[in-house]
Amino acid sequence: MTKQRKAVALISGGLDSLLAVKLIQEQGIYVEGINFFTGFCVEGHTHAIRDNGKAKPKRNNALWAAEQLGIKLHIIDVIDEYKDVLINPKHGYGTNMNPCLDCKIFMINKAKIWMVENDFDFIITGEVIGQRPMSQTKYKMPIIAKQSGADDLLVRPMCAKNLPATLPEREGWINRELLGDVTGRSRKPQFEMADKFGFEDFAQPAGGCCFLTDKFYSAKLVDLWQAHGHKEYELDDIMLLKVGRHIRPAPHFKIIVSREEGEGRFLQGYKKEFISVDSSSHKGPLTLIDGTPTSEDLELVARIVARYGQGRTAETVTVTLTEKTGEKRDLTVQPFDDDAQLAAWQV
Ligand code: SF4
Repeated sequence: MTKQRKAVALISGGLDSLLAVKLIQEQGIYVEGINFFTGFCVEGHTHAIRDNGKAKPKRNNALWAAEQLGIKLHIIDVIDEYKDVLINPKHGYGTNMNPCLDCKIFMINKAKIWMVENDFDFIITGEVIGQRPMSQTKYKMPIIAKQSGADDLLVRPMCAKNLPATLPEREGWINRELLGDVTGRSRKPQFEMADKFGFEDFAQPAGGCCFLTDKFYSAKLVDLWQAHGHKEYELDDIMLLKVGRHIRPAPHFKIIVSREEGEGRFLQGYKKEFISVDSSSHKGPLTLIDGTPTSEDLELVARIVARYGQGRTAETVTVTLTEKTGEKRDLTVQPFDDDAQLAAWQV
């Protein structure tokens, strides 16, 4: 009797990993998925708290993909281990603060360890040659396979025909002829494949799967590192970068101004860790102060908070400052009216 071969797939929730798994399942291989949670994933955070796009269902696309494929999905928290990948990427950063090459090597290495521990036979990813300049080029794919330790147990079903045959292909566990030959940035072949397999409503995240490819998020991360004087971070630090307007009027403090109700409710959870400011005479955004503001700075913050509330055109607005201890005091101020300055302070 031939042995039932088993593959572990990296599942991002995007179309490519969905199709990659399907191509392998079609060949009678048993597949389970892994989704790594780095803390920078777009999924399930901002999606879940912001009101924008309320009409769209909020879902975790990796779980959705697993459900579509009928596979078991392991969501693995790698927040702590990932810090070294981001802080010291051997291959550097991409256009923004995305260390894609090191990230791929790290994830595939973790998948290889999982594969061995769980008695699986090979690894699959949704990578496509030429789709991403940093990590998905024909030259970089062998680097990932080698440095992750996966070597020729790493199969990229979407573009396998354009790469050297891997061990599962050479051993006949899978038929190379039935795998894909997709290259480049066009999504047309993927859409055709999705259509053929009957997948609808799959995720097409415009900014990719993680915040590190986002230039605004990356600017906030660099600002955080500069303000702290080092690159170490905690999960709360990087979560807060996903929320609100970040305004830094001076190196020793910044403010995080919620942009809508969902963000305001999220920031409520941090009131014990930061001085917070609510607009009390008018409706306005909840704001957190990060750093060590002087009393003059607090006056300025009060004016900025007033600017973002419904009292922006009023003569004066009263805001309530709440210390981390819960102690409160009111400040009545004129709303800040220099929008050019505010724009210059925005991180
Ligand atoms: S986009 Fe983010 S998660 Fe994806 S490879 Fe790059 S750094 Fe890693």
